[in-house]
Amino acid sequence: MAVVCTGILAASIIMPSYGDYWLARRNLDRVQRYRLVLDAANRLSAERGPSNAVMGIMDLPTDDAKRQLVQFRAASDAAIEAIANPIAPNRESIDHPIPLRFLEQTNTQLKSARAEVDRVANLPLGQRRLEDVQLAIEGMFAVVDNFQSIVAWNVDDLVDADDGIAASVLIGHMLSDLREYGGRIASQIMAPIATRHPLERKHLIDSSRTRGRLNELWRLVGGQDAIFRSDARLIGKREEIERVFFGEGLEMFDALVTEGRNSGNYSLTAEEFTRRFVKTLQPLESLRSEFLNVKIDELMQTRDRALRTLLMVIAITTAILVILASLVRMVHRSVLSPLLQARDEVIGLAEDQPVQLGNPAQYAGEMRRLFDAIQILRGKLRERARLTDKLKEQAETDGLTGLFNRRTLDLIGQSKAKADGQAETACLVLIDIDYFKLVNDTYGHQAGDQVLREVAALFRSMLRPTDVIARFGGEEFAVLLSGDLLSDVVMRARRLRLALQRHEIVLADGARLNMTASFGVASGPLGAEEWPRLIKAADIALYRAKSEGRNRVRFAAGTELDEP
Ligand code: GH3
Ligand code: MG
Ligand code: MG
Repeated sequence: MAVVCTGILAASIIMPSYGDYWLARRNLDRVQRYRLVLDAANRLSAERGPSNAVMGIMDLPTDDAKRQLVQFRAASDAAIEAIANPIAPNRESIDHPIPLRFLEQTNTQLKSARAEVDRVANLPLGQRRLEDVQLAIEGMFAVVDNFQSIVAWNVDDLVDADDGIAASVLIGHMLSDLREYGGRIASQIMAPIATRHPLERKHLIDSSRTRGRLNELWRLVGGQDAIFRSDARLIGKREEIERVFFGEGLEMFDALVTEGRNSGNYSLTAEEFTRRFVKTLQPLESLRSEFLNVKIDELMQTRDRALRTLLMVIAITTAILVILASLVRMVHRSVLSPLLQARDEVIGLAEDQPVQLGNPAQYAGEMRRLFDAIQILRGKLRERARLTDKLKEQAETDGLTGLFNRRTLDLIGQSKAKADGQAETACLVLIDIDYFKLVNDTYGHQAGDQVLREVAALFRSMLRPTDVIARFGGEEFAVLLSGDLLSDVVMRARRLRLALQRHEIVLADGARLNMTASFGVASGPLGAEEWPRLIKAADIALYRAKSEGRNRVRFAAGTELDEP
């Protein structure tokens, strides 16, 4: 019970810890995947730079620009591929992968937008119309716009999923937007610059809207001290963005807008502008990237902390369980099982049955005392059993002769009934020593006692072990013989009589005595009611033996077996 209860308690402690760990791992996966999505968005935005370059350079596109475009396109493709097949540590734990159809749509769109860029780029310089360049640029925008909906879908999904990562996800999104609109603003005036045309109204409206958006986003993100304070890596980035992007980059942009509004005589070629402007985007990109790095690190720390807590909780609860289990084992071994052993021994002693004795030396403390006490009890019981045996013997036998006493003889005579209810037939011989009183009177009471002992021993020695002989009264004896023919019994009684007659008793003072006895024999069934009748019959026969002269055997029922 204790182990089960502790197990339940342990589970209730381990489960939340495991839940924390599991959530931390999942959040880490989610943010890592989110990072892949933002990376892909960034790559797609970045691809616009070299696309614009190959379309906007005055001479035919240089091999350098083309090579750069090839590299950027490969990077975009790889980034999209990474979302489709994330190499996250545990892919199966990613709950909502970005639906593949979204990515397929992006790929299709990307393919046609790139084809358009390539088409324009391959036209001889003179044939590149502003509209075509504009169209190609917008095609690349459309790819990014479409991809933004994937980002938004992902953001919604993650904000719904867990409050703990919502803020990071939203800020990451804003930083990604910042980078996107930073790039977009340049692209919005790239076509007129490439074709050396003044800016049209549309370019002015689009670009000033984007500029407003950039300022707004930066106000939201850049103004949040809490975001930058969280990690030293981020602090320097804010200042760098202010200086490089909002300073240098947008100043360059403003100057070109002014030139485009006036004459269309731009101080920079599209390629120069792209090259220089893209550099100012660098801090935006690096802030986004660093921010996510910081968040991913934090989530890893959270995960590791949760794992450590989980392992610690498991270790502690396991230790508690082990300690408890060994305590239970110990209690069982040193308390319960000795108690059961003691119980068996006590019951064994009470029922007088042999029990495997516990050795008190193997126990300690109270148990040892308990087993010592059982040892003492055993000793006392043994002594009592000896006493009981002795008392029983004393109760059954006659102290002087060692024969059964009258009481025992009566018990035997009354109880000797057969199982079928039919009483057993037996022969009873009553023996009375003749003129015994004379011995007492002449030689003293002790001599009388000696005579009694010797007569008893003589008769006993002549009987079979199964025959019963008892001291019936003062100088009277009784012999109970079962299963013998009456005539045999009379014969044996006669032998006893003759033996006594011949037996010489030497008294302490040297006097020699020859005693005789009279015998009354009767036969009949044994049993509680029959026994007195049998005695009575034997007594009558004995009386007859006495009255007819003593030293003879008489039979109760008739005279045909009588001795002369
Ligand atoms: P009888 O031939 O008629 O049997 O004569 P008796 O003297 O043998 O019979 P009686 O009944 O007159 O005497 C029995 C005597 O046995 C009386 C008594 O003092 C004596 N006696 C009984 N028990 C003991 C005993 O344990 N020790 C001794 N020494 N004498 C006993
Ligand atoms: Mg007598
Ligand atoms: Mg007598």
